[in-house]
Amino acid sequence: MNAAETTHPGRLAPALESWRFEPFFGYAVGKMQSETSDYLVIGAGVAGLALAGDLRKTGAKVICVDKGRVVGGRCATRTLATGSLCDYGTQYFTAKSDRLTRWAQAWINEPDSTLRIWNRGYPTWERGEIKEREPGHPRYAPTTGMQSIAERLAQGTDVRVSTTITALAKDGDKWVATGHAHPGETPVSFTAKNLCLTLPAEQLLRLAGTFLSDSWRSQIESVTYDPAWTVIAVLENDIPFDHTAIEFKNHPVLGWLSRDHTKRDFRHPEPVIVAHGSGAWSRVHIEDWKDSVQAAILAAVEGLGGQRLAVREAHTHRWRYAAPTQTTGEPFLSDKAQGLHICGDGCGGIRLENAIATGWLLAEGIKG
Ligand SMILES: Cc1cc2nc3c(=O)[nH]c(=O)nc-3n(C[C@H](O)[C@H](O)[C@H](O)COP(=O)(O)OP(=O)(O)OC[C@H]3O[C@@H](n4cnc5c(N)ncnc54)[C@H](O)[C@@H]3O)c2cc1C
Repeated sequence: MNAAETTHPGRLAPALESWRFEPFFGYAVGKMQSETSDYLVIGAGVAGLALAGDLRKTGAKVICVDKGRVVGGRCATRTLATGSLCDYGTQYFTAKSDRLTRWAQAWINEPDSTLRIWNRGYPTWERGEIKEREPGHPRYAPTTGMQSIAERLAQGTDVRVSTTITALAKDGDKWVATGHAHPGETPVSFTAKNLCLTLPAEQLLRLAGTFLSDSWRSQIESVTYDPAWTVIAVLENDIPFDHTAIEFKNHPVLGWLSRDHTKRDFRHPEPVIVAHGSGAWSRVHIEDWKDSVQAAILAAVEGLGGQRLAVREAHTHRWRYAAPTQTTGEPFLSDKAQGLHICGDGCGGIRLENAIATGWLLAEGIKG
């Protein structure tokens, strides 16, 4: 058994066969692991996975790394104490492009498919009133949680989770990315002719800023995001709304509220809500303690229906970069001579489907 399997049983990440962990004062200390590939994709969010999957299909050797314990980035699902699942990042996805529509349809048509049309739109809350909207295009969500979208995109790709890249260097025409893997802060080094960066803009600038041309740097510097504080709450009783979700306009605290259990099947009937603070509120409170954020968001939810929430379990998560409000203006950046490529929602814009599209489009751009 290899290191990744030891840490994450059943994870799809093909592990580093040659990793060895040696006991050291009770901790696992690994030897430096060096690997070479044609492409190194940093970030196994949906953009990085879409890109890596298509590059792999050309026969190239592709390695995708992510600092998270699982793939998906902002496409994130949590297992609650009772075993219920809850999406605390992306809530659903839309599919307007032909390719993503076909991809979603193929999944839905599978026997025992886990992908469902969750709703065809949701009402908005404005000035104390909930306004219904005409049903529109499908909003998809898997019963197994949004993270399973990332797992599906990752199938067949060599993904190394729990691997953080902290430095980049150039060695001739090759990129060398170094960092560490968990457990044990094991040093890692990846060498590749092509480096693909799929991180939110600020993280990308910190890691790779010195390697960017002036024009690329100013494009990436222009990318801005709204943050989001998210609260998950498992309730004794459901909230008094029939809707699967509500989007808030100009609410002093809230940006979004969903009854997450309406995405699940009968095995997980307990009421679970997910509430996001609005971008404006989350920005003001971004450095606040989780406890006070949780109290403020839950009080705002109680204020909607005038009903006290009986909370059995609650969690709070801070997303510093939730949704882009300004993008680079191009679906990807690619310099084949330098072997440097960039995609992700900072290029494509708000919505999961745009992030996926940037990965697929960049792969086409690299091949073409
Ligand atoms: C609260 C919230 C709600 C949302 N709701 C919706 C919605 O309902 N519908 C919708 O369409 N979209 C929604 N979105 C937006 C959607 O989630 C994103 O657009 C999309 O997931 C972005 O994917 P990505 O691959 O570009 O970036 P990410 O998912 O951020 O992937 C980047 C990855 O890079 C990794 N990484 C960063 N630094 C390093 C490093 N140094 N070394 C290794 N790995 C690193 C990160 O761990 C991460 O996994 C929401 C987002 C949030 C946060």
